Amino acid sequence: MRKCIAFCPDRTHTRRWVPCTKRATHGSAVCEMHADSLAGIVFGLGVLVSQAIAKTTAFGSHESPDEQDFAEPEDAPSNGKSKNTTRRPGTLIQ
Ligand SMILES: [Zn+2]
Repeated sequence: MRKCIAFCPDRTHTRRWVPCTKRATHGSAVCEMHADSLAGIVFGLGVLVSQAIAKTTAFGSHESPDEQDFAEPEDAPSNGKSKNTTRRPGTLIQ
């Protein structure tokens, strides 16, 4: 069995990392503790990405951005009639 390839914080030096002393689980490069830690981080990142995607694609839902964040299209016709006040997604002001 191979040794775990991960590093752990050194308990005696605050800014130093030392190789993990545990054995890698069968078929893996890391020990059970580091496999669980890595899975937890990956799942957490997945949740963050899902939330960011849901937030940016929430048009028409209860979480839609404030209408003031959108600009009028610059290519709107100026024929003297009242402006079309319909907001179109995709013209977000930076
Ligand atoms: Zn380990």
